[in-house]
Order: sequence, then structure tokens, then C-alpha cells
Amino acid sequence: MAWRCSGSSNKELVDNLFRGGLITSSRVRDAMMKVDRAHYCPEPSYAYEDSPQSIGHAATISAPHMHASAAESLLPYLKPGARVLDIGSGSGYLTAVLAELVYPQEADGKGEAGKARVVGLEHIKALRDMGERNMMKSERGKSLLGEGKVSFVVGDGRKGWSEGEDEEKGWDAIHVGAAAVELHQELVDQLRSPGRIFIPVEDPDGYGQHIWTVDKDAKGLVTKKKLFGVRYVPLTDAPK
Ligand code: SAH
Repeated sequence: MAWRCSGSSNKELVDNLFRGGLITSSRVRDAMMKVDRAHYCPEPSYAYEDSPQSIGHAATISAPHMHASAAESLLPYLKPGARVLDIGSGSGYLTAVLAELVYPQEADGKGEAGKARVVGLEHIKALRDMGERNMMKSERGKSLLGEGKVSFVVGDGRKGWSEGEDEEKGWDAIHVGAAAVELHQELVDQLRSPGRIFIPVEDPDGYGQHIWTVDKDAKGLVTKKKLFGVRYVPLTDAPK
């Protein structure tokens, strides 16, 4: 099904994903329209196919329909002005799409949107640098990085990322782009109330993986939900 949604331009790819029902939210469609996937693919001639692509270091840029599904799942928590952590940012593509959702260009820093912050976290420095370099290819990406709305950092995603003072702490949404062996408590601790984590987790029998969402409600109550089967690269120790 997915291959039918490929296109010959970024617009065609996103239109086809929308028409094919792989993107259902117009907010996600508009955000994906604004980020040219060719800037994030080592092989730009395949950038508008709905398929994953190797980016080196045993990492892949996920297929666009997977990025759409992650963004849609987190959408209720991606209000303008939200704080978002993208763990295993790899190519930087989803980091850029998430930034369009929480800091829409139209907002121009006004009102709540001005508080937006998106951090792409990688444990391989070369990939942290790649994400930033890819985003710098567009004027919009350059200004998001220059204004400090988006940053790429190096660290172990299993421990999350802490920054800011008191009311600026924590994350409204955490996306994990690699499969964890467990639902890491440190990520749950760093989640705001309310907030949501989207995370692929290895099945206990070791034979598969499923996407889980972890929600923290306004009172701090945590609920976990198993969604659908997936295949992600593992969330591991950094290579020596
Ligand atoms: N969202 C990215 C996915 C990249 S693949 C994209 O679509 O481009 C998964 C990424 O997770 C890899 O880049 C890998 O280096 C990173 N990763 C794996 N284990 C990690 C860890 N413990 N901490 C941070 N990043 C990790």
C-alpha cells in the first residue's frame, strides 16, 4: 500500500499520503509540506518514495508514513509553544516536522508559540551533526536553529534530556525513533502533566516490537497503551 503514495516532488508525496489515508490530519500534512525530505536523504533521487533509507551508522530515515503516524499520535500534545524531545533524531527530518507543528511560521514568535522548543537527541555525534546540517539547507531551518527554537544535542536517549529552569522544564511530547527494551522511567519522569511519549518497545519474547504510548494526565496519572507492530533499529549503547 505504502509504495503507492510515493511522488515526484515533496508536495506530491505528501498529497498522495493524505489521499491514501496515511496522513489524516491537515496540520500534519501542512507541516510535512514545509519540510523538503530531499534535504534529509543521502540519496535525494529516492527522497519522495514512501520508504525508509539508510543514512549510515546503522541508522535509517524512517518512511514518511511512519513519521506521519508518529506526529499524528503525538498531535494533541503538539500545541503551538509546546516543548518536544525527539530521541534518535538521525536525519533530523522528524525534528524539523515537529518544529513546524509547535512553532508554525505564521505565529512568528507571537503569543504562546514563542515558547516552543524542539530538541533532537542523538548518541552518535556524526548523526547529531548530520541532522543539524540537513536542517541548515533551508532558510526556514536556518532561522529555527538560529533563534534557538531547535537544537541538536548528543546524549543517551534512554536518560532523556534535561534543560531549562522550573516552569520551562520537561517535555509535552517525547518521540523515540529507536526500539527500547523497556519503557525507561527517566523519560516518564521528564514528561509534563499532561504529556505523551511515543516509543517503540521490544516485545518481551524478543521476536517483535510494538509502538506504545505513555500518557501522563493533568493529575500525573500514567497510562500505557500498546498500539501496532513495527521494525525500528534498537535504542542502544553508543558505538565505542
Ligand atoms: N528519526 C530518525 C531515526 C533514525 S534511526 C530519522 O527518521 O531519521 C534511529 C536513531 O536512533 C539512530 O540515528 C541512532 O543513532 C539513534 N539511537 C540509537 N540508540 C540511541 C540512544 N541510546 N540515544 C540516542 N540515540 C540513539
